[in-house]
Amino acid sequence: MKILLVEDDSRIAEVIAVAFSVRWPEAEMVSTSLGQEAIIKVETEHPDLMVLDLGLPDIDGFDVLKQVRLFSTVPIIILTARDEESSIVKGLEWGADDYIIKPFRQLELMSRAQALMRRYHLISQVAIPDYRDLHFGQSAHQLFVGKRQVSLTSNEVVLLTHLMRNAEKVVPTSRLADAIWGMDYPGSHEAIRVYIHRLRIKIEDDPNHPQYIHTYPRVGYSLQEKQL
Ligand code: CA
Repeated sequence: MKILLVEDDSRIAEVIAVAFSVRWPEAEMVSTSLGQEAIIKVETEHPDLMVLDLGLPDIDGFDVLKQVRLFSTVPIIILTARDEESSIVKGLEWGADDYIIKPFRQLELMSRAQALMRRYHLISQVAIPDYRDLHFGQSAHQLFVGKRQVSLTSNEVVLLTHLMRNAEKVVPTSRLADAIWGMDYPGSHEAIRVYIHRLRIKIEDDPNHPQYIHTYPRVGYSLQEKQL
């Protein structure tokens, strides 16, 4: 397993590297303090996980996220001091799998990283369903909408496959949170709303008038032919 750490504060980078080496002694750490270099390293090193700081000396971490998501579904955890809700939503909207605010507890980072790796590996093993025009390619990250191919991040795969297995039923938001994080934590419903929005942009012809994923306010979401 290879972890790419993008962090310009050497003290924090050191703490994170030590925490990972204790939890996953076999993990290889690759690190950089620069955003541009981070993008290149995702391409050349093929990391299994990326921990991304937002305040970097060259380009903003959001730009790193945006560019990486153009070609990679690598699991990404944003680790930043920016705690405004708009920042969190933007991070999730642009394809981060998780968002942790500094100062953070090492234990929290480790358990979130572990949960993310677990679902990333799980989704490559489970049988993946089809639904109407939606079917998966060789990997669970590769979805075909008719003939059009889109790539999905780990959380999007978990959400969509969960909705597919429960097609035509309304799935409560708390159950979707449970499917992603193994629990329903404060803020998770907002994060799911953002992920659903991203999924719609990828699969719907018109995300504002969805034909696949329907919202049931204060209840949950449903993958179905049309509104009940
Ligand atoms: Ca920084």
